[in-house]
Amino acid sequence: MKAADFPIDIKDHLFPFHTDAQMAYECIGCEAHYPLDRFLYTCPSCEGLLRICDLTFDRLTEIPGPVWRRIFDHRRMLNVDGLKGIFLFHEFIFPIIPLDAVINLGEGHTPLVRANAELSRWAGVDFSIKYDGLNPSASFKDRGMASAISFINYMIKVKGIKELLGICASTGDTSAAAALYLSYLPHDVVRSVVLLPQGKVTPAQLSQPLGSGSTVIEVPGVFDDCMRIVEQLAEEYEVCLLNSKNPIRIQGQKSYSYEVAQQLDFQTQNLVVVVPIGNAGNVTAVMEGFLDLLRLGIIEELPLIIGVQSEHANPVVLWRERGEYRPVKVRPSVAQAAMIGNPVSFPKVSQLVEEHFRERFFALQVSEQEIIEGMLIANRHGHVVCTQGGESVVGLKKGVEMGLVNANHTVVVDSTSHQLKFAGFQQMYFEDSFPAGYDIKPREELRNRPIAMEASAEAIARHLGLKKKKG
Ligand SMILES: *Cc1c(COP(=O)(O)O)cnc(C)c1O
Ligand SMILES: [Zn+2]
Repeated sequence: MKAADFPIDIKDHLFPFHTDAQMAYECIGCEAHYPLDRFLYTCPSCEGLLRICDLTFDRLTEIPGPVWRRIFDHRRMLNVDGLKGIFLFHEFIFPIIPLDAVINLGEGHTPLVRANAELSRWAGVDFSIKYDGLNPSASFKDRGMASAISFINYMIKVKGIKELLGICASTGDTSAAAALYLSYLPHDVVRSVVLLPQGKVTPAQLSQPLGSGSTVIEVPGVFDDCMRIVEQLAEEYEVCLLNSKNPIRIQGQKSYSYEVAQQLDFQTQNLVVVVPIGNAGNVTAVMEGFLDLLRLGIIEELPLIIGVQSEHANPVVLWRERGEYRPVKVRPSVAQAAMIGNPVSFPKVSQLVEEHFRERFFALQVSEQEIIEGMLIANRHGHVVCTQGGESVVGLKKGVEMGLVNANHTVVVDSTSHQLKFAGFQQMYFEDSFPAGYDIKPREELRNRPIAMEASAEAIARHLGLKKKKG
């Protein structure tokens, strides 16, 4: 639809008025501000984590919540590149970035798919799954990468950066997204490097940064080891860290919450959102996103957030149980993308929970067996969820059993990536070939294998027990 054809009261707001906003880094510890003219990941004065703060955010309150809702609903019909995908919510993500510097590779606006009656009965409550596996690199990481790369593009165009090396540690999906988005930027300016724990990302995930032309470095150890190395590189060398420790990533990942709200017509009363927790960037962004909406009167109530972790990588669960945070040593997990023992964004989670989600945040633990079966059962009922999605689905079931979630709730479950990235774990289940450390024993009724047969209709009909047509 063309801008001229929109209702008169919306036309004025279709294009962001807030492009002269002032944004800065803000330390979550000492609250110091730093200009947004370079890449910064921790506070130079107290080493606290940083968030991106819109110093002119109050101006957004001049528009009443119900008007914001109409603006965003109408923008979905607008065909303007800089306002597509996560940048439909331009004012809340990076208002300082001009529309022609925004990069959009098709991320965002992922479907919210209702579970059928049978699957809902199994979980104990009606729910919907948001398919973030339908993003371009097949995970939610594309949301944060779109904001990060748009910001880098803006720095190249406006600040005249001549050379940039983007780097990240990854459990598979961050590197896929970083490599994809960086490859869109001019190759004479931008190089991309990803650091992976050897043998701890799936073959599909490994193929992605290779295909995007990234330099792929594999090192022994787990994600936490890779993270320490890139943190040191970012500290001591001229590189741009693209992990979610970089707050320019969190800005884009907040779009998940904006979209969930919009897909529910902004009715968030009694909403429950279930997300897997790994490095805790996602759950941070989800909470911050709903807070933005609440501050502007776009929603009236914050949701209940249920974070789910495997028994094999559960530092946030243990923190909630013991009231004290300690990193854990991870064990093998089919929710491999969340197999992280010392989540970098933990201080943000702890602060957000303390200040805004005290009664609205729960961390639940599930077993490896439950995770893989959660995935298989969801996918046997029409879904395409990954193991982390399976973790969320079974976390919901647990939340129902514990009485946290009931029929009065509207429930959204986050499937953070696509089933196909994790086909190898499904195969291990079907073949009963999990190495010992996973503690998974397949159940016969969930296994499935191809059947080799001779190329004969009669033989196949016999095998299937088909009845011959009469007459
Ligand atoms: C990264 C990732 C997670 C964990 O998200 P965090 O922000 O690290 O907590 C979960 N699922 C998938 C598929 C991921 O790629
Ligand atoms: Zn500080």
